[in-house]
Amino acid sequence: MRETQFAVIGLGRFGSSVAQELVQLGHEVLGIDRNESVVNDMSELLTHVVAADASDEDMLRSIGIRNFHCVVVAIGDDIQASILTALLLIELGVEKVVAKALSPLHGKVLQKIGVNRVIYPERDMGVRVANQLVSPNLLDYIELSEQYTIAELSATRRISGRTLKDLDTRARHGCSIVAINKKQDVIIAPTAEDVVEEGDVMVVIGTNPQINEFEEAIT
Ligand code: ADP
Repeated sequence: MRETQFAVIGLGRFGSSVAQELVQLGHEVLGIDRNESVVNDMSELLTHVVAADASDEDMLRSIGIRNFHCVVVAIGDDIQASILTALLLIELGVEKVVAKALSPLHGKVLQKIGVNRVIYPERDMGVRVANQLVSPNLLDYIELSEQYTIAELSATRRISGRTLKDLDTRARHGCSIVAINKKQDVIIAPTAEDVVEEGDVMVVIGTNPQINEFEEAIT
């Protein structure tokens, strides 16, 4: 993976978690926060830290913010500071700006001014948790579009020892198993003869109703 230089502005719960994970993934991360004690707490954990107000254009210029490949605006409650900072980053020519939104309106403004990706952490996590609560075998999922999803389903005892031919998900439910993760080994593009064992993770592609139907059938 190419090493990317990131900056994270606002080191609250969300920003500090993003910043620390990026470091874990082997990237250089500059953390910026206007609260000096927050910056001190993070100084050992991130590559560089700066205590400053990110809505100060001169400060952003002086630290060469435009040289960072990606800047994450994780400012919490101060919507004005979040929008102002995002706008400055875009005007200064940052390649990719990602910003956290607190409300749909906040997100709309961020989108309009040209933020590349708007994130709603609480809303998205709430949706994710609710989906996992109602579908006990659903481990994770990615929405490909409004209609299609890739989901990771845990294989239950009910289907343990069955081949994909036995399961026949395409004909029965309309969705396809595109990979099986067997802990030691991942079978990509499995064939009809491949067997699913309890605890395997099946990667399934289909519409939400198709995946729900399959998930209910194996429970
Ligand atoms: P979270 O919900 O992610 O914990 P918080 O609101 O607690 O969010 O944290 C946001 C952080 O952003 C705080 O540490 C705050 O000091 C910082 N912050 C807010 N405004 C600015 C700004 N203009 N410049 C830099 N940091 C800021």
